[in-house]
Amino acid sequence: MKHTMVAFVLMSLVLGGCSSEEDSTVSTVEALVVAAKENFEWKLITTWPKNLPALGTAPERLAVLVDEMSAGQLKIKVYGAGELTGATEVFDAVAAGTAEMGHGAAYYWVGKAPVAAVFTTLPFGMNAQEMNAWLHYGGGLELWRELYEPFNLIPMVAGNSGVQMAGWFNKEINSLEDLKGLKMRIPGLGAEVMNRAGAAPVYLPGGEIFTSLQTGVIDATEWVGPLNDQTLGLHEVAKYYYYPGWHEPSAAIELIVNKDAFESLPLHLQRMVETAARAINQDMLDEFNARNFASLQSLVEEHGVELRKLPDDVIERLRDLADEVIAEVAGNDELSKRIVDSYRKFQRQIQSWSNISEYAYFRARDAKDE
Ligand code: CA
Repeated sequence: MKHTMVAFVLMSLVLGGCSSEEDSTVSTVEALVVAAKENFEWKLITTWPKNLPALGTAPERLAVLVDEMSAGQLKIKVYGAGELTGATEVFDAVAAGTAEMGHGAAYYWVGKAPVAAVFTTLPFGMNAQEMNAWLHYGGGLELWRELYEPFNLIPMVAGNSGVQMAGWFNKEINSLEDLKGLKMRIPGLGAEVMNRAGAAPVYLPGGEIFTSLQTGVIDATEWVGPLNDQTLGLHEVAKYYYYPGWHEPSAAIELIVNKDAFESLPLHLQRMVETAARAINQDMLDEFNARNFASLQSLVEEHGVELRKLPDDVIERLRDLADEVIAEVAGNDELSKRIVDSYRKFQRQIQSWSNISEYAYFRARDAKDE
């Protein structure tokens, strides 16, 4: 009702002041009138269980932000995994326009292009802060858009888990031998690294992990970190909780938007979508950082979970295998090479800076407690 009235007032002004010399002004105003009037109702499908903390609540926050910023002009309804489409169907469904938006992670789509994994994370790659710097100021986002362009999708970064945990195991990992034959849920290029280390990686969406571990379909799993892992109840079906998350030193979460749908939005709504994505990108990382440790404390102190660090020689072998896997992905085609080269060059540079900034500072701070 409000939009109709605004449109009526503006149209009256246009018609009242119309003359042939003012055609361009008129068309600008007409465009504004149309932009102000048309309402949009979109669907956002996700790869997450509905309302899972941080990963699943971020798209809900995005929908509220866009609704409020646009005064209701763009309404977005959020669907959890399995409600409108299955978790593994999000990419295709948004590409086809079944839903206008999807929230998930690029490494779920390695079946489309193995190099997509780079836009979530690389084993032994960049942390969240470094990844955001690459995406927004190092050319990463442009490369990502180039990769998704043939699929009629526009990707935006819309969340980050921070450094993850290495995962849940029912036996101790004391050597590389202990990985042999281990059926482990793990996505992305980390899965291929585990494969080469002798394990048997499988991919399962979040909603299927608990039952698969409980029934012995898998022996081990990684998911995210203490906050999300506790929500799935993984401590009830595994005893040992390992760190560090070598395979996911951060996980950039994506918002994919159907290109035709995005281009049908007036510019001010496009900017609101982009700005809301940027807002939940930071917000999700803040939530994980704020809440992970309390969950870890609860897991260890109240649920008897045994925290373990992966042995150094296991980490070293996984790092060598990761280098091999990443080099092979870069060799797939010209765009894959440009993406991997850009990521790795940026990582080398920012690591030099991180070494004398964040890392040096952490060491200086820790030294006080020794
Ligand atoms: Ca993970």
